[in-house]
Amino acid sequence: MNNNFILVLNCGSSSLKFSLINPETGTTLLLGLAERLLSEQAMIKIKHDGKKEQCPVPSPFDHESAILYLVAHLKKLTLVDCITAVGHRVVHGGEVYCQPTLIDDDVKTAIKNLARLAPLHNPANLTGIIAAETAFPTLPQVAIFDTAFHQTMPEKAYIYGIPYRLYTQHGIRRYGFHGTSHYFVAKQVAKMLNKPLAQCSFISAHLGNGCSVTAIKDGKSVDTSLGMTPQEGIMMGTRSGDVDPGIIFHLINQLNYSVDDVENMLNKQSGLLGVSGISNDCRTIETAYTEDHNQQAKLALEVFCYRIAKAIASYTASLITLDGIIFTGGIGENSDLIRDKILAQLSLLNFKTDKAANLAMRFGQSGLISTPDSRSAWVIATNEEWVIAEQTFQLLNQQQDF
Ligand code: ADP
Repeated sequence: MNNNFILVLNCGSSSLKFSLINPETGTTLLLGLAERLLSEQAMIKIKHDGKKEQCPVPSPFDHESAILYLVAHLKKLTLVDCITAVGHRVVHGGEVYCQPTLIDDDVKTAIKNLARLAPLHNPANLTGIIAAETAFPTLPQVAIFDTAFHQTMPEKAYIYGIPYRLYTQHGIRRYGFHGTSHYFVAKQVAKMLNKPLAQCSFISAHLGNGCSVTAIKDGKSVDTSLGMTPQEGIMMGTRSGDVDPGIIFHLINQLNYSVDDVENMLNKQSGLLGVSGISNDCRTIETAYTEDHNQQAKLALEVFCYRIAKAIASYTASLITLDGIIFTGGIGENSDLIRDKILAQLSLLNFKTDKAANLAMRFGQSGLISTPDSRSAWVIATNEEWVIAEQTFQLLNQQQDF
């Protein structure tokens, strides 16, 4: 067996996603998810060799126990020796970390300090790093930052129209997220076009529970819809995206909301869930619309698609040429309805959906969904884990060369 696999870890606040990937081919030997960590319902799902296992776990079960469980499982399958490094997804790298970075004590301190900008994500990422260091003390650990791809944005795209000192003194600016996904899908389409990525310009829409749109010029991110935090921009599963900031003052001053109430409402009760009143899950809303003719579901889908189309159209201001639009993420990869509605809204930019190709594109498939006389639109199944494995491997190779 090939002896070069990277263990990729993605620690969320109550979950751990893991995969064992060949960085050169993207072949995944094993993957899985530990979820509902620190609750009675904690469980771990592992897929290896075409077999899926769902294993009950002892309580309490946290990130560290999940990593120990994974290590024991890898040992049982005699897969530990093929791991050459561990690659970690880290959500916020601030302005300093725009490259894959070998983790040492300084990097861990920086990730901890950046928790002020990503309070839900960076502490969980750090927990995963420390647990992985304990489990694999001899392996290099590498951080791949979700904000890194967007560090090429020009100042005019990342500065907010608020006092400049809030940027210089407190780092308040647009950082953007989902960077690894936007980079991966752009790279894939560049390959399909047989052009170097550095000669391609796209607008990519990552539509999952979290959603973002990015303008990519000559292969680099030049603007993106998520901001200092993952709350700005287009509407998402439970997050509002852009709202008039005056609404916040109105809720607090006139309707007696506390700051926590407002935060909770904008983060957890808004978006597709808030408008539909049914669910944050796009499938459930689509079913309510198509089968039950539910009017709130219809409205939620209309607002969602219109706002995405507006964001896409606005990013034409960041580009000189446009090779096309790329859809990715759970919704972007699977919902022909959402893609069709967005492209229909963009007819002025000459986007036309090839209905049959669009309908057929789902379940991890990638390809073109626009007609021959349309500007191009693609669906690309994202693979952030492969990017993390690839960049981890490249960093370690560069270091060996020196
Ligand atoms: P996350 O941001 O948590 O990684 P995903 O990228 O997995 O999220 O996307 C989850 C979203 O994708 C959910 O809203 C889900 O309903 C949607 N989705 C998945 N499959 C389909 C489908 N066949 N049709 C419409 N939406 C889908």
